[in-house]
This record gives sequence, C-alpha cells and structure tokens, in this order.
Amino acid sequence: MDLAALLDRIADDVAPEIGRGAVADYIPALARVEPRQFGMAIAEVDGSVHGVGDWRRPFSIQSMSKVFTLALVLAHDDGVWTRVGREPSGDPFNSLVQLEHEDGIPRNPFINAGALVVTDELAHHGDATEALLRFLRKESGHPEIDVDSEVAASEAEHADRNRALAYFMASYRNMRNPVPAVLDQYVRQCSIAMSCHDVARSAVFLARHGLRNDGSRLLGQSAAKRVNAVMLTCGTYDAAGEFAYRVGLPGKSGVGGGIVAIVPGRCAVCVWSPGLDARGNSVAGVAALDRFTTLTGWSIF
Ligand code: GLU
Repeated sequence: MDLAALLDRIADDVAPEIGRGAVADYIPALARVEPRQFGMAIAEVDGSVHGVGDWRRPFSIQSMSKVFTLALVLAHDDGVWTRVGREPSGDPFNSLVQLEHEDGIPRNPFINAGALVVTDELAHHGDATEALLRFLRKESGHPEIDVDSEVAASEAEHADRNRALAYFMASYRNMRNPVPAVLDQYVRQCSIAMSCHDVARSAVFLARHGLRNDGSRLLGQSAAKRVNAVMLTCGTYDAAGEFAYRVGLPGKSGVGGGIVAIVPGRCAVCVWSPGLDARGNSVAGVAALDRFTTLTGWSIF
C-alpha cells in the first residue's frame, strides 16, 4: 500500500472537518492554539515513517502521555494492577464520584485518577518525567523533546481537581509518594510537546508486541496486548465505544487534539488537529482515523 498517497487522500477527505470543534480552553496556552491545523503520521513496524500536513509540528501531548507512563511502569512489573482497574469509567476523565464508591481505586489508568496512580508508581523507580523523556527521545530520535514549561506552569496553576483526586486517593492509602511531588510529575508529563512523527515512532512498540525501535524488549507480548486492550476500552474518554465503533483500533486521545492509534503487527498512527468534540476528542482526528481504517481495512475487527 502507498501510505504517502493514502495520507494525502485522508487529508483531502477530512479537510471540511479541520477547524471544527473547540480548542481546550482550561489554560491560556492551549486556548491560543490555532484550530485550523492538521497533521498525521504513520510509523510502520519496519521503521519507516510517512506523514502529511503539520506532522512535524510539536503540540501538547496531554493525556497521550498516559499510554507511555503505563508502559514504562509495566516494564518494571505488573503490581500497578492492584492499585488501578481496567474497566471503562463512563464518567468524565477527571471525575471524583466513582473514587469514593470504589475505595480510592481508579477504574482505569487513562482517567486522571488512574494516571496519577501510574505516575506515582513510576516515581517509585526514580524521576518519572525523566524516565518518560528518556524513552520518548530515544524512540523518536529527537533528543530535543521536552516539557513545555509555559504549559506546565499553567497546568500547575489549574490543577485543583487533580490535586483533589490525588489527596483523595492518599486518604485510601493509594499514593506511595507525597501528593505534591506526584502532581508535579503528572503535570510535567502532560505538558510534553511532540509532533505526530515523534508520537507515532514512540508508540510503535505497541504494534510490535512490545519491541522497541532498537529491537530491545520494553514489554512482554501479554503486557503489550493489555495496554492495547485498555486503550481500546478506555482510551478516548467516555466516547471509547463510539471510537471503537467508528475506528476499530486501540487509541488514546489528549485535549491538545492528538490521538495515537495502534494497528497490531503493522503500525502506529498519530493524528493531530486541535478542535475537540464535546467529549474531548479531536473532531478531524477521529474523522481521519475513521477514513484510515475504512480505506485500508486495517481495523482489528
Ligand atoms: N492536563 C490535563 C488534565 O489532567 C490532561 C487532560 C487530557 O488530555 O485528558 O486535566
């Protein structure tokens, strides 16, 4: 398949969707992003990468970071599953209510409460953000990948809800490290800036059943399968059912407008367009992935 031509066709097909939706406006640094941008990259398991549009422009990865932190934690051991579940929550990503009913154990690692637990677990093995940056820089081949300090400062100022989640879990003894330290790491991870190229290259280990770009193993085959499974069921806020219906791939979105999706055995795809739908998923991004699986037949179903 000519993936460069495929990407050109997808970009043409979704052009009417680009700029639709609303950019995230909970912090000024995201509210200012020009909505009429679109990029898409495909990183194949053999190492080749193809892209279209703004595929080399860095954007705020936000909750897409949650996939990588989960993988890095599971690379140590699978003890984190005693502290976080793997069921869709059906509640907004930053909801507090379920946590009280379920004794401080978050439903899954991709809602904020679950990601805070994962970051806490990763921080137990050393500096969590440094470990994440080291991994992303190596996989993408871009050593300049870093935290956007303006986004991080702004996130930290508006982190009351996440702070509340973390302290609430601490009250159930589901935090190992001091809350301020975990929160700082979490905020910094969300504030990393990367391009579609970098995200796709960094996520392709999930298409390679756990093998990194240099051939070394990050995750065993089962752990890689599990990360993909949780992405499918919980990766796109409370629209994971709709995403599975339209796209049919494991995916994880972020409020910066990025979505990373995995075609096991073939490739990782990252698409970015900042306009979000009411659930927080990129309008043009979901449309592009919908076209991608329709045109290629590369859904998991
Ligand atoms: N920094 C955001 C938060 O934790 C991440 C939101 C997201 O991309 O889902 O509120």
